[in-house]
Amino acid sequence: VTIVGLDDTDSRERGMCTTYAAVQVADALRWEGATIDRLLLVRLNPAVKHKTRGNAALAIHTDASPETALAAATEVVEGLAEVADERTSPGVVVAPGEPPGEVVAFSRDAFRTIHDLATAERLLDRSDFRQAGWKEGRGRIGALAAVGAAEAVEDWTYEYIAYREPDRWGTPRSVDEKTVFEAADTYYPRAWDTVDRGEGEAVCVPNAPGPILYGIRGDDPYATAAVAAGIDSEPVYARALFETNQGTDAHIAPASIETVAENRAYRLTGTVAESAETGQGGHVFLTIEDGGERLRCAAFEPTKRFRDRVRALRAGDRITVAGEITDGTLKLEKFAVRDLVRTERRTPACPDCGNRMESAGADQGYRCRDCGTTAPTKATVEIERDLELGWYEVPPCARRHIAKPLVRGGFDAPVHAER
Ligand SMILES: [Zn+2]
Repeated sequence: VTIVGLDDTDSRERGMCTTYAAVQVADALRWEGATIDRLLLVRLNPAVKHKTRGNAALAIHTDASPETALAAATEVVEGLAEVADERTSPGVVVAPGEPPGEVVAFSRDAFRTIHDLATAERLLDRSDFRQAGWKEGRGRIGALAAVGAAEAVEDWTYEYIAYREPDRWGTPRSVDEKTVFEAADTYYPRAWDTVDRGEGEAVCVPNAPGPILYGIRGDDPYATAAVAAGIDSEPVYARALFETNQGTDAHIAPASIETVAENRAYRLTGTVAESAETGQGGHVFLTIEDGGERLRCAAFEPTKRFRDRVRALRAGDRITVAGEITDGTLKLEKFAVRDLVRTERRTPACPDCGNRMESAGADQGYRCRDCGTTAPTKATVEIERDLELGWYEVPPCARRHIAKPLVRGGFDAPVHAER
């Protein structure tokens, strides 16, 4: 098998998409008589700052010779006007066979950490891989990670992507949303994150300019294709099924508050120290504590109804949070309620008139001014909680590509899945 890795052909302005470049390379190889075995869409650590939102790298598994594969990929990348975009620095890496273990390890690390170009270059120098880079060729980092991904990814999902006719790029997409919602309902949860029912949004249809008409994600490739078949839309120019690590939480590492580092994503447990505060712009902040260390967590405005779940937490609740650390704050993607505070100590109510008693002075207990009734201490009162034990998550409209939807299962507590 020959493996072609491809990265950083995206452009912020034009919204060109690396998945489309991979489809073009696959097509070119088919024209040469080669067979395409697999198309991999690999999501790397989403915290990498210079990348466009998705941080995707692509791999094409083929029986073409390494030379043919490199020539096809080079031609496609050079044909993309986006090479002219200052911020892209495309890279192509071609492995003539199964990659060595150190490349698989590099790939596995790329989901959670940030690799530098020197590390990638060192691995490339030691290998028999072919490579091409434009500008400084930073894209070779992601391309190398994509080459190792077949072995590094442990949990595979699928995305079926339909592409627009090139002369329509940049114009409004014509997709019948009613058919999207119907198809999404029929195949849920084998296909997930197709729509956001709470927001009434067809999540599978991107807003950014670019070649993608829609992308259907799921655990079952047949279900993703079936959803696509049910959607009425403008003509589909090309379609491709990718195997991917999307929806798997591959970026999340277990940790504790004191061990976290910037620009990585973690799952860690603590006690709510201060209940949530809603700040400017509707962003919600919460502080958790564990072993004397504190960590600020945030649910930003785009997470919509998820913020209500965060606001429902109270000081003393035990929770596990998951998300990326940026500027010292964990951006919540999901959290699990482990233990809820169920009672509260309150100034007692008067048994006669029902009014709240008042303090009768330091260590004097409480008394009702009107009736003269007294109570020695505060009363323990049960409180209504609007949360249950288990996992809560951001809605589909706010999901990061790599984040795992609760409906996929495999969590360590009951789930409250958003759909
Ligand atoms: Zn009273």
